[in-house]
Amino acid sequence: MTEQKPLTIALSKGRILKETLPLLETAGIRLLEDPAASRKLVFDTSRDDVKIIIIRATDVPPYLQYGAADIGVAGKDVLMEHGAEGIYEPLDLEIARCKLMVAALKDAPPVTGRIRVATKFVNTARRYFASQGRQADVIKLYGAMELAPIVGLADRIVDIVDTGNTLRANGLEPTELIATISSRLVVNRASMKTRFREIQDIIDGVAAAVADKRGN
Ligand code: AMP
Repeated sequence: MTEQKPLTIALSKGRILKETLPLLETAGIRLLEDPAASRKLVFDTSRDDVKIIIIRATDVPPYLQYGAADIGVAGKDVLMEHGAEGIYEPLDLEIARCKLMVAALKDAPPVTGRIRVATKFVNTARRYFASQGRQADVIKLYGAMELAPIVGLADRIVDIVDTGNTLRANGLEPTELIATISSRLVVNRASMKTRFREIQDIIDGVAAAVADKRGN
């Protein structure tokens, strides 16, 4: 029996979209038009029963949590920051790899006492410093974190590091690794129960595509 409501997959523009679409295609789900050439937010796929929505990366967890999307792809950084309530994380897609790190001005002295940290990952940063027993004042920024230590807003930043070029270009260096990051396939927990077969088939198809790409 086919469900009336299409399965909804939430993706975000940029690296995740570019690297997830080939995996979905191998699993038999192909977009019918190029989202880069469109302002639409909801896209039909080669399967009548599957739609793809394209939203901001940080909005993927709430869409999943509240069941507005059944399946999604989100970076582990975004999932750690949002929390995993209502979200099941069955598969590491092994794409968009990077590191979540603490960074400081090059050769900055150790901080004694309270440490000021600028980041957009405020929950993750608070948890990390608390787990180390270090007192931290965490300042929420929405971009250009590297500027904060330069102008004296913060002693440290917590940010995504890939090549390290952005840090280096601003006279900073990574000092501590908080987590290694990659994109994950995530599923709404209720959908996983009510539409188990359909969703498990997609997870299996994408898992096979990931293994193929890895060369197993
Ligand atoms: P890099 O200069 O190569 O270390 O890249 C650092 C910047 O690129 C960070 O400030 C991030 O905003 C962005 N970035 C790099 N890789 C990723 C990723 N996998 N996910 C999200 N943002 C990333």
